[in-house]
Amino acid sequence: MKATIPDEISYDSENLVILWKDGFKSTYSLLDLRKKCPCATCRGGHGGKVGAATGHIQSILIVSWKKVGRYALNLTWNDFHDTGIFTYDSLRAYSEGKALEL
Ligand SMILES: [Zn+2]
Repeated sequence: MKATIPDEISYDSENLVILWKDGFKSTYSLLDLRKKCPCATCRGGHGGKVGAATGHIQSILIVSWKKVGRYALNLTWNDFHDTGIFTYDSLRAYSEGKALEL
């Protein structure tokens, strides 16, 4: 699936930008992504809701990122958090207006 493979990944102090292999460009607010971190800690425990424990975050920056296999992106934030795995499928769907289902 060309549409869910990133060609270029970049970020600045506000946004994460993914240019996909099919030419589509997605821009994500860093704060929005951080608040929607899908890991168990940020959900307030296993089975918790996305955003349950991240509502207090006011500002955030990306420190680094790495690819996880061929399917996902792992972001390291400047609050030292790095356990969230964002799948390409869900990131792409999210930027096309669908809910972020991670
Ligand atoms: Zn998290």
